[in-house]
Amino acid sequence: MGRVVPTAEGTTPKEWRARARAFAAAEVRPHAVTIDRTDRIPPGIIHGLAGQRFTALGLPPKWGGEDADTEAVCGVLEELAGVSAAVAVTLAVHLSVCAVPIAQWGTPEQQEEWLPALACGERMGAFGLTEPGAGSDTASLRSKYERTPEGFVLHGSKTFISNAASAGLLLIFATKDPGLGSHGISGFLVPGGTAGFSVTQRFDKLGLRGSETTELRLENVRLPLGALLGPEGSGLKVALSALAGGRVGIASCALGVAQAAFEEMQRAVREADADWKRTLLARAFVELASARALVQEAVRARDQGRPFATEASAAKLVASRAAVSIASAGVDVAGPAGARAGAEAERLWRDARVFPIVEGTTEIQELILARSLLEGELRPTA
Ligand SMILES: Cc1cc2nc3c(=O)[nH]c(=O)nc-3n(C[C@H](O)[C@H](O)[C@H](O)COP(=O)(O)OP(=O)(O)OC[C@H]3O[C@@H](n4cnc5c(N)ncnc54)[C@H](O)[C@@H]3O)c2cc1C
Repeated sequence: MGRVVPTAEGTTPKEWRARARAFAAAEVRPHAVTIDRTDRIPPGIIHGLAGQRFTALGLPPKWGGEDADTEAVCGVLEELAGVSAAVAVTLAVHLSVCAVPIAQWGTPEQQEEWLPALACGERMGAFGLTEPGAGSDTASLRSKYERTPEGFVLHGSKTFISNAASAGLLLIFATKDPGLGSHGISGFLVPGGTAGFSVTQRFDKLGLRGSETTELRLENVRLPLGALLGPEGSGLKVALSALAGGRVGIASCALGVAQAAFEEMQRAVREADADWKRTLLARAFVELASARALVQEAVRARDQGRPFATEASAAKLVASRAAVSIASAGVDVAGPAGARAGAEAERLWRDARVFPIVEGTTEIQELILARSLLEGELRPTA
């Protein structure tokens, strides 16, 4: 069990954001280019995230967490992403789709066993849903589990899993029988290093380099009965609720990249003014402000205890689109220098370009929005 460390009780969302901004400037900025170039985050930065208590955000104080709301978590993610999107996404995955689902769905025993170690950063979390052939259509996953008198045995493979190689704990989804569709799926807590679990490949990516993205094999992975997260057969519900929260976090990371790209563009326009650049800057402002409004709406809905999954999809869609559009215009404004490897504008564009895929593609967010509009849950009125 991890250490339960004193909490930063009473810290406001604004203070969390300011803390993240200061940490990002002092501890992450000097390494941002190297993280991208080497595709590795120095361990000191992960320790720093834990030292700042960012790895504990939104988890129950009883288990070493920080009683922080979504506004605080998203402010931290946005500030980190503006300096290194890879660092922000690593933290977002750890919190939103591993630690928070345990706080939400775990038994008291599971929470006691795992949350202190996750909160203090002794173990980083990962989430394994996607498989070769089962990405957007999550219900069609093929990794299987069998129930035995002692527990469960998992077989299969996963792909594009963030944080997995260095994760201390993975939330992995498998089905009892692919013929059962969504009802056959369950979620399991798999400690990193469990026998039969292996990382078979680490992908070299366009952007978010440093955030490790891997392929996994599960071969006869034996787990105790206590590894099942949530009721058996409710895995897709667990996964989709985790992804709704995750999308608010990923939207905030995309917003951080969009904001950084906007500021970079503003600097470039000041240095070399031209009407066409002014036009791009004005468009970028409108895109950024629209994205911020939708991210804030998703954050508010979640913090007020309202249903927020549709708002999360809208926020993720618009913020990732804004990040790509603003970062792309930023490369234009920077001119040839912006296209050089290692240029800030170039790195921001590559990072931005991955956000429309992570935690559900733009098309999937559009389908979620359309369903919600047709069912009357979402209305485009005041
Ligand atoms: C950097 C990175 C990190 C990731 N981290 C994780 C992780 O930690 N854990 C995890 O489980 N997964 C992770 N993923 C996987 C990610 O969630 C999937 O890539 C994504 O859900 C899409 O699945 P897919 O790649 O199989 O594409 P597909 O589902 O095959 O989609 C291919 C294309 O078809 C479109 N499409 C699919 N279905 C429809 C439809 N019904 N209507 C219209 N268009 C459709 C998609 O939008 C997409 O453009 C990560 C991916 C990336 C790139």
